[in-house]
Amino acid sequence: MSKARNILVIGGGVGGLAAAIGLHQQGVEVEVVERDKDWKVYHVGIIVQANFVRALNVLGIGDAAVKAGYAYRGARFCDLDGRVLKELPGETAVDGLPSDLGLTRPALHKVLTEKVRELGIPVRLGVTFESIEDRGDRVDVSFTDGTKGSYDLVIGADGNYSAARKLLFPDAVPRYTGQGVWRYNVPRPQDLEWSDLYIGKDKGKAGYCPLTPEDMYIFAVFEEPGNPRFAPETLADEMRRRLEGYGGILGEAARHVTDPALVVYRPLEACILPSPWYRGRVVLIGDAAHSATPHLGQGAAMAIEDAVVLAEEIAARDVEDALDAFMQRRFERAKLVGTSSIQLGEWEMHPETAGDPIELTDRIRKALAEPV
Ligand SMILES: Cc1cc2nc3c(=O)[nH]c(=O)nc-3n(C[C@H](O)[C@H](O)[C@H](O)COP(=O)(O)OP(=O)(O)OC[C@H]3O[C@@H](n4cnc5c(N)ncnc54)[C@H](O)[C@@H]3O)c2cc1C
Repeated sequence: MSKARNILVIGGGVGGLAAAIGLHQQGVEVEVVERDKDWKVYHVGIIVQANFVRALNVLGIGDAAVKAGYAYRGARFCDLDGRVLKELPGETAVDGLPSDLGLTRPALHKVLTEKVRELGIPVRLGVTFESIEDRGDRVDVSFTDGTKGSYDLVIGADGNYSAARKLLFPDAVPRYTGQGVWRYNVPRPQDLEWSDLYIGKDKGKAGYCPLTPEDMYIFAVFEEPGNPRFAPETLADEMRRRLEGYGGILGEAARHVTDPALVVYRPLEACILPSPWYRGRVVLIGDAAHSATPHLGQGAAMAIEDAVVLAEEIAARDVEDALDAFMQRRFERAKLVGTSSIQLGEWEMHPETAGDPIELTDRIRKALAEPV
């Protein structure tokens, strides 16, 4: 096999756009197809840490992401009344840039899409693959817009419900973990400098994270037996009910959860593939390869780290060796995040078996501060 010179990325989300930017910067010809013709993302916020900033900095957009979000000092564990039990201060991985950051998903999307446009990377919206034929020395792809293409490598970055994964590993399907997450953006106290997590309530936890100088978002992760579906008009009442019994800033903020249309509820699902995440010349990255629950706030960072490492390896070696080297650098790290996230959820649902969530979170944060 020789080095990959032209690559198709399926999925224009966090990992797919990061991969396209990284590959373009390595001199590889790259194009993206994105199924959603409107290229929309959820309006909620995401929590990210130093390894996210470091990975985006490699792509030349660390600074832009920091400006688009709100930097804070780190994570704190609190009791039900908001009394601080433990501080986990963030440690920067890039001189001059902060570590922990809250930003809205649309703000991250804007940073990534602006860079893609600036680099002139072709993105076809409302288009996906119809068939993928791996010929050994290239991959032939036909698309839903009637066109065809031939590539040295195809990257499946099409998220948790990946069609590329279904093609490569049909037995791997996301599994409901037993919990759901509720999210809502609210006005924030002026002096908020931490993301706080209130623990100790039966079957779940809740907290908030600053997003902008004006706003923060509240999240609540609770056991949801039977994976229920909620009527849209009930979502604010359901979320507020789960926030009953909390004091401190969280108890105050819960009163702002009033508009059911602004509640984002998601059942938590996970699908962590064993190694390798590729077959022949088709490789999966991000949630398509290792979707986990949000307990460590690492989904976006893992997808971007995948993208950065894959671009580096593709530039350095021929396709087969690059994919092997990619797995060597990525598998254990992504698995650690995925299994630890699921473990934290299990402890919340089964307190009688619980270990120490603060210790585990601290340990993983420190492990991820190490370079990839
Ligand atoms: C509500 C919510 C809150 C979250 N909060 C956090 C957080 O706080 N911190 C954090 O780090 N992570 C968070 N995550 C997880 C994080 O968003 C994901 O881990 C991350 O986006 C994974 O990137 P990805 O590129 O693999 O998938 P995505 O970003 O989901 O991108 C997949 C893209 O592929 C497209 N697509 C799907 N199927 C096809 C197809 N067949 N063909 C072409 N395109 C296709 C989709 O439209 C999408 O644009 C959250 C996720 C959700 C849903």
